[in-house]
Amino acid sequence: MATPVNPADINPRQVANKSDKKALLDAIRMTLSVQSPAVRRNTQTFNRNRYAATALLPDYNELKDRARQIKEDAIANLPRLLEQLEASVRANGGHFYLAKTAADADQYIRDVLLRHEAKLVVKGKSITSEEIKLNHALEAAGITVAETDLAEFILQVADEQPSHIIAPALHYSRERITALFKRKFNTDLPLDTGEELTVFAREKLRQQFIAADAGISGANLIAADSGSLMLVESEGNIRMTMTLPPLHIALAGIEKVVPSRTDFGTFIELLPRSGTGQPLTSYVSILHPPLKAPSFAAPGKAAKPREFHLVLIDNGRSRMREDPILHEALYCIRCSACMNCCANFETVGGHAFGGETYSGGIGGSWEAGTGTLMNARFSELCTGCSRCVTQCPVRIDIPWLNENLRQRMNVEQPSSAAKSAFGAMTGSASEDRVAPLQKQFFANYHVMAGEAARFPAMANAVTRLPLVRGLMESVVGLDRRRKLPPFPPKTWEQLYRDEHADNRPRAAKSASADVLMFADVFTNYGSPERGMAAMRVLREVGINVELSPSSPDGRAAISQGMIATARRQASALAQLLLPHLEKGRVICVLEPSVLAMFRSDYEHLLDAGTWEKFARASFMEPLQALLSIAKEHGTDLSQIFRASKSPHGTRVFYHSHCQQRSCDAAWQTIEVLRSCGFDVVTSSVECCGMAGSFGYKREYYELSLAVGEDLFAQVRVAEQEGGPRTLVASGTSCHEQLWAGMGREVIHPVELLVSTLG
Ligand code: SF4
Ligand code: SF4
Repeated sequence: MATPVNPADINPRQVANKSDKKALLDAIRMTLSVQSPAVRRNTQTFNRNRYAATALLPDYNELKDRARQIKEDAIANLPRLLEQLEASVRANGGHFYLAKTAADADQYIRDVLLRHEAKLVVKGKSITSEEIKLNHALEAAGITVAETDLAEFILQVADEQPSHIIAPALHYSRERITALFKRKFNTDLPLDTGEELTVFAREKLRQQFIAADAGISGANLIAADSGSLMLVESEGNIRMTMTLPPLHIALAGIEKVVPSRTDFGTFIELLPRSGTGQPLTSYVSILHPPLKAPSFAAPGKAAKPREFHLVLIDNGRSRMREDPILHEALYCIRCSACMNCCANFETVGGHAFGGETYSGGIGGSWEAGTGTLMNARFSELCTGCSRCVTQCPVRIDIPWLNENLRQRMNVEQPSSAAKSAFGAMTGSASEDRVAPLQKQFFANYHVMAGEAARFPAMANAVTRLPLVRGLMESVVGLDRRRKLPPFPPKTWEQLYRDEHADNRPRAAKSASADVLMFADVFTNYGSPERGMAAMRVLREVGINVELSPSSPDGRAAISQGMIATARRQASALAQLLLPHLEKGRVICVLEPSVLAMFRSDYEHLLDAGTWEKFARASFMEPLQALLSIAKEHGTDLSQIFRASKSPHGTRVFYHSHCQQRSCDAAWQTIEVLRSCGFDVVTSSVECCGMAGSFGYKREYYELSLAVGEDLFAQVRVAEQEGGPRTLVASGTSCHEQLWAGMGREVIHPVELLVSTLG
């Protein structure tokens, strides 16, 4: 048996390439054991600051639309812009080189430096140089490379790859940096504060700036009409890299080209706010190289004439541009908002949720586009929660990119008779029957749940047997440590039918609205009483509500990358709902992940005509509908649902679902509960970490619970003041995570409201 690796002994470089599945699992354990506290603190600070900074922008949405439009147009016209840029750079007196591959770029830069007999190069932060492994290529030619960004300097000393796109060493705590410097520089200097560390690094770097023969920088944007470069930074080191040495080489991907310098303004507004939450970074440089001012000359030496080279690299980007899905990744402006708002990234950072160069939700597309598809395996850590979609300044649908990567990786798997037979049995589309058993199992949850619902007592007894849990773990990867919620005696559909049979009063008190409640599979098979409570709440304010038949909506399948299966399920469900949409009925959806499907994901799954009908229709979370009707009719909800009558008490801790917030359907619940007299404390975590099947999977169970820990801690803090609170949550996954992590009952807001009715 292989000796288990101590996670603390793993160097991040050893697990940078995640095409090996074991590397991904080792990286998760390593980051959880070593890096997580620093990653959490830093990303969550950026995230909070971003919310605050963007809230102050009155035209935030228009800026995002403009940024998206500029990038879309630039990528569409890229060949023409590159020609124009080449002419501009040459007219300015600079050199232009378009490198087809990483090796071409390395060779060109190395040759330029050798021609200049450069011995020492200072480098400002450039993720593209990491992509082409430039340091390695230059050092092999005898050229010393000095990283001048403090974070890159730390990584160079530690020999690690970046873990974050704008703060590459954010996984380092101050204490770990002190220990690293003391060990590597063998010094007794006091290095116990941030200031002492910065002074120490600055002294070392200053000597390098003075002695450097050349400077290599990146570029945030490049204007085709003038050859101008735009760079934003915090330390001023990039400005020195570009201006002190006589030879300046700027290296960037071809996607950084925009038509004009006038386009820079939009991105200067968005980039720092989306990244660190600063209104502006300390240094914003707009350069028009080669510079006219003389270069720096050490005392007693003559200044050399300036020379400028712009090296643009393709390295797979043209292929990405032609790709119907991956081309969207080229709009990325590398701000990091998608990482800082991602609960999984916040917990493990880019050394687990990342590859050799790129990380986070968008990183998978970049690793696949500039490397190989299997390098994008870490994108499995994208749970599809969609929190990043509304935070991205260029509105990239990151989960959709990752679902497609997953689908492509599924196809790369060898087919087998077992997978085909299981797929046929469970209803996977034929294209998806190559997907691993685990994915097919979770994608077709409704089939398994449907069978269990026929004999729930037996299903519950069997799935509790250790032997069965062991079998489920080894065959479909369902972690045996995860608590399984029991199947209820009856489904939502059955309870609804019983209600009809009993002929109990169920009609609205006055039919002022006509709502169809969608029986999603999660509530139908898992929490039918919750579904009935939702219908009762709506009826209490006079809404006439009926239940639809239960049908899979595609959420479970799309999250496994089984897009053909998801499309088939979505089309079948659309046929079921269309007659109601055409009548203008409001469709209420209790499960937020399904609400998000109807509101946005179906754009990718339905034909254009059907999607148009969905896009126009009214899909609502039940308490959204409740609040809207109450406001329309001037109903005082506290007269119907009196918090003081609830056996659960009036003090509650409410956690809204990630997709509910992305759909802007969460604040209504809080407003309803407060208006009924509940004292509500809300969670501020982006996601509970359960994320559908994610927290059930053997590979991700530990990460899922680690993510959940932030939520559990918020509950504990809230309860330190004034005692216990009833746990209330809106999503099935959130219920399961809170129930497993805190070992306590969790109820839905509709159940809380019903409890007030006696
Ligand atoms: S969809 Fe959620 S999990 Fe995926 S990258 Fe975005 S924030 Fe992270
Ligand atoms: S995908 Fe969007 S949010 Fe993420 S780094 Fe790129 S621009 Fe920023």
